[in-house]
Amino acid sequence: ATPTAIMVGTGLGAKRGVLFKNATALETAAHIDTVILDKTGTLTKGQPEVTDFIAAGISRSELLALVAAVERESEHPLAGAVVNYADENGAEKLSASQFRNVPGHGAGATVTGRRVLVGNRKLMLAENVDIGPILAQRNDLASTGRTAVLVAVDGKAAGVIALADAPRETAAAAVAALHEAGIEVAMLTGDNEATAQRIAAILGIDTVIADVLPQDKSAKVAELQAAGKRVAMVGDGVNDAPALAQADLGIAIGAGTDVAIETADVVLMRSDPLDVAIALRIGKGTVRKMR
Ligand code: ADP
Ligand code: MG
Repeated sequence: ATPTAIMVGTGLGAKRGVLFKNATALETAAHIDTVILDKTGTLTKGQPEVTDFIAAGISRSELLALVAAVERESEHPLAGAVVNYADENGAEKLSASQFRNVPGHGAGATVTGRRVLVGNRKLMLAENVDIGPILAQRNDLASTGRTAVLVAVDGKAAGVIALADAPRETAAAAVAALHEAGIEVAMLTGDNEATAQRIAAILGIDTVIADVLPQDKSAKVAELQAAGKRVAMVGDGVNDAPALAQADLGIAIGAGTDVAIETADVVLMRSDPLDVAIALRIGKGTVRKMR
């Protein structure tokens, strides 16, 4: 593109809070045919709240105190939501030892001499916990689009916690705008398949890539590239940085983590997913002008 076209494109973007880091980003934006959006924090607000807390074979108050003790040690956004819920419900404050974080799975710790695990199915499977007793509840909650987290105490299934993270107001419109521009839209998430499918259905997204471990997100981008797609990845989290780097165009949500913002080629300062379509449109306009 000519220097003038680049300047115009960069300026148009800046007005809207769409920051292109360099001229290449602007040109690449013109040729994107597939957009992958991270779910949590990108399509959703990234502020989960506990909606259901189900105890099985243990009292609610005891389970809540045990779980909160583990989650106080974790930096995961879901952990923060569980701790808030425990505080609001006056849960007893217990201390945790031998805390262990398992990325993409959950966490565990010893609390009052009991081994407590909080996380997804994969975590329970890895720890040989039989989730049969809580599976029906877990599936019901996940089918509503809520994230269902499982709890085990001393190796036994002990509860299910459901968390809801509301979609951003413009998420559905953002997907529609990309479809209108002839772009394929996929959602990528570490969350479980059922929850991801429900949210995708609400937002009009047809392709869902769920249950992805943090370290596997970039491989999913590479798979689409190997199939000939020109991929933009949109994300906010630390976990998303390698995928942003792998994509032809990395787009970071402005409210996201520093590492996502540093890695990306484009930053959406307004944290509005609608600006993804605008970024691509500006790219196309810039390249058209140069011809
Ligand atoms: P995402 O890509 O959606 O941000 P993560 O890869 O961070 O998800 O986590 C994937 C899943 O692992 C979560 O949906 C949750 O089920 C489980 N998980 C991870 N950490 C925790 C935690 N501290 N407490 C409860 N569940 C957790
Ligand atoms: Mg995220």
